[in-house]
Amino acid sequence: MKSYQGIAASPGYASGPVHAIRQRAIVPERRSVPADQVPGEITRFGQAVDKARAGLQELIDRLATELGPEGSEILSSQLLILEDEMVWDATIAMIESAGINAEAAFARTVGELAARFLEIEDETFRERVNDLRDVEQRVLRGFGASAAQHLALPTEPSIIAARNLTPSDTALLGRNNVLGFVMDQGGNTSHVAILARSIGVPAVVGLKGRALALKTGRRVAVDGTDGMLVVEPDQETLDRFKLLTRRQVVINQKLEHLKDLEAVTPDGRRMHMMANIELPVEVDEALARGAEGIGLLRTEYLYFQHHTIPTEDDQVRIYSEIVRRLEGRPVIFRTLDVGGDKVSDYLGAKREYNPFLGWRGIRFSLANRHLFKTQIKAIARAAVVGPVKMMFPMVTGVGELRAAREVVAEALTELAAGGVEHEADLQVGIMVETPSAVLVADQLAAECDFFSIGTNDLIQYTLAMDRGNSRVSYLYRPLHPAILRSIRMTVDAGHAAGIPVGLCGEMGSETRLAEVLLGLGLDEISLHGAALPK
Ligand code: PEP
Ligand code: MG
Repeated sequence: MKSYQGIAASPGYASGPVHAIRQRAIVPERRSVPADQVPGEITRFGQAVDKARAGLQELIDRLATELGPEGSEILSSQLLILEDEMVWDATIAMIESAGINAEAAFARTVGELAARFLEIEDETFRERVNDLRDVEQRVLRGFGASAAQHLALPTEPSIIAARNLTPSDTALLGRNNVLGFVMDQGGNTSHVAILARSIGVPAVVGLKGRALALKTGRRVAVDGTDGMLVVEPDQETLDRFKLLTRRQVVINQKLEHLKDLEAVTPDGRRMHMMANIELPVEVDEALARGAEGIGLLRTEYLYFQHHTIPTEDDQVRIYSEIVRRLEGRPVIFRTLDVGGDKVSDYLGAKREYNPFLGWRGIRFSLANRHLFKTQIKAIARAAVVGPVKMMFPMVTGVGELRAAREVVAEALTELAAGGVEHEADLQVGIMVETPSAVLVADQLAAECDFFSIGTNDLIQYTLAMDRGNSRVSYLYRPLHPAILRSIRMTVDAGHAAGIPVGLCGEMGSETRLAEVLLGLGLDEISLHGAALPK
């Protein structure tokens, strides 16, 4: 038995045989084409694209039925690649100028584009290369390449192992016979991670070669909660996993009846229990587990799902739908928090030498005033559907808060002037997640409506430990006196100013810390829906 640590991408436990996916990419042969056959090649190219489009549409429809609109949105972006002039025109130009067959011209065009994408050291972009390659193979198959190279689906319940999976492969697999995923590449924002969470199976990503080394049929166990892959697990491990799974089911069943009760201590302290979500697809789970509302909506994930910046109307549509589904429960929208570990290149946030101390959170939004104002407007418009609050990430001082509030004022004035329906009295809060914000919490509290403590970053910055660096992960110590004092100071400053103070970092989902958090005087805890019943 051997265990490997990866990145926990979707919680839960599973064990079973491996279904290895090693796709052999179709590499087309290159043929010279005489000038009189060039129009014929262009027609063949068009037909192959049409076939690819039809196949993709079928998959999108299937995915929409299985996972809802968010799941299919990932693939809809591939349809856009097929329409993209860069791909379309460049291929035709290549057929004409190089006098080569359509499939070779197309593969070369995609290859050049992918190489350009890969030069950009950005995970989101790499994900897009994945999309590009997926579309490439789809079109090449459209030329009539052998069907044997299609994805082989598991015939028995299996753990899917691959270097990486394209979104459409994940969709093809669907829920059928999929017990879990182990991947060599990817992070928490990768499509596989998102989809694994939405179909509720465990996933471990970032296994650096361990996944690809697995052969079909090998027995493995996956711990998506702690990010572990166990190869050839012994009976004891299997029993432990079974027990953990059963225990989780039993715990959930036992706690089921509590979900609609208020969270009150025997001495009458009321704690609001909210859920953190990244995508609309998580709303149902949060509500099923008894969330009183959404305490942190990481809006950047909604942007990551689009290949272009979503328009104000797009955002209003998505935000309003979430608010509507909450049926009167509050939703806290956190404005875009790109930078740090969440870089999205199309937003102009580039890799930096020290990204966590760089251009992220509110710094990025203030530097992109138009983008920021558009998001604020969308949130204010969605707020007519139900109770909505808004908060800013990574605030370090009063200057940033004032600058951000200025943009809010401007956004609301413009909405009013345009006669657009919106909530004019939007509550505005901040994430307290930098030591600096803690130290000036009294000043910040005087100028905002609520605090939400982001312990993931607060611990990182206070204890000077990179939250993404496994070598220093032992320094993640929520009970460090510096952290407890910081939380206490923030709560006291908030309460002295008469504003509520919540906590939305991962610390909130550690059951053993619940009493500490109560003792520190917090009013609200927001955590992943699945962890709420505990
Ligand atoms: C945090 O920093 O604690 C937090 C909740 O935000 P994120 O994890 O998105 O940085
Ligand atoms: Mg944070």
